[in-house]
Amino acid sequence: MMKLGIVGWRGMVGQVLMERMKAENDFSHFETTFFSTSQKNLQNPHQLENSHPLLQDAYDLEILKKMDIILTCQGGDYTKSVHGELRKKGFKGYWIDAASTLRMENSSVIVLDPLNLDVIQKSLQTGLKDYIGGNCTVSLMMLALGGLFKNKKIDWITSMTYQAASGAGARHMSELLSQMKFVTDDVLKEGLDLSEKILIIEKRVKNLLSHASFPKNHFGHPLAFNLLPWIDSELENGQSREEWKAEVEANKILQSQKIIPIDGTCVRVAAMRCHSQGLTIKLNQNIPLDEIESMIREHNSWVKLVPNNKSDSLKYLTPEYTSGNLQIPIGRIRKMNIGPEFVNAFTVGDQLLWGAAEPLRRMLHILLAH
Ligand code: NAP
Repeated sequence: MMKLGIVGWRGMVGQVLMERMKAENDFSHFETTFFSTSQKNLQNPHQLENSHPLLQDAYDLEILKKMDIILTCQGGDYTKSVHGELRKKGFKGYWIDAASTLRMENSSVIVLDPLNLDVIQKSLQTGLKDYIGGNCTVSLMMLALGGLFKNKKIDWITSMTYQAASGAGARHMSELLSQMKFVTDDVLKEGLDLSEKILIIEKRVKNLLSHASFPKNHFGHPLAFNLLPWIDSELENGQSREEWKAEVEANKILQSQKIIPIDGTCVRVAAMRCHSQGLTIKLNQNIPLDEIESMIREHNSWVKLVPNNKSDSLKYLTPEYTSGNLQIPIGRIRKMNIGPEFVNAFTVGDQLLWGAAEPLRRMLHILLAH
């Protein structure tokens, strides 16, 4: 039985991963050790068959080295401090990671097997050992448009994203709720029907958002009643790092011979969970809409084609519908007025499931079958 070490199971991605692995009975295939950066030697709360009863120190290279597979959702700082040192110590096992640190290294593969199982399998045969989950928004976009990528119909894409607070971590989700409470506790003191004085209330909301006690330690700005058109750090070319990831990661996932340009604006919105994106897709030929829809629908079992009408779009193309679910709805598909090769689409996906945990747990099965 392979020895699996799990790091980062307490975090948001880690918790979703644990839920999925339990639901799919994945632990029955492994002898599992749970590691923690902060709770070593405490009782392991996941008393599973074949699991070590105590939590192990996630910085103990000697114990880590004994694993056949290490799967980490701990974050980039952990990967930076442990991965290189562990390899230097002679760790020959597989490293599966949710963090971005190793994604663009030549020695790693970005895993999204419905799109690149062939790339993963070739890499396993050539002995590559680092298998890294892609950026959540990129993975979700690629699953939604898998049929168009597979059939090589795309010239370029622009994506305008609407990314949930949870993409930034648990503390940010909590801060969003505190921000909402800070405002609504104040203005709703006067009752629930404020429509007659709504413009006065709107001014009060604006003032509350800049109040000295407004909670914004984590976001640095109000996200409630607002949006934030910058995610991650600044690059010299004017892109945010989140925007940069779309093209480089998508093309690495596909191992494209010819780069497909992808660019757009990434925006944080006040949804709790799920990332949405509005896409403009430039096709390399004029394809009838029903053929575009068939390619999308037939590519994988998770993509859900939503008819381009108001009621289905408002019901199925939302974070509310998609949260906690493996489906990837895509809709608003129509030819744009700009020209017959330009297609409009809107897609939503759970960034903690297909955007993070699911490709990692599926990688475990690919290793089992290898
Ligand atoms: P997170 O919730 O901040 O958890 C990371 C670690 O923080 C935990 O494993 C835990 O480690 C520690 N921790 C400290 N206090 C905690 C508490 N009160 N509750 C839970 N954990 C606590 O991080 P995350 O959002 O899951 O992200 C992990 C990695 O996945 C990052 O590299 C991120 O970029 C990537 N990712 C995130 C998303 C997303 O939507 N959030 C999507 C795709 C990829 P110890 O047990 O060792 O203390």
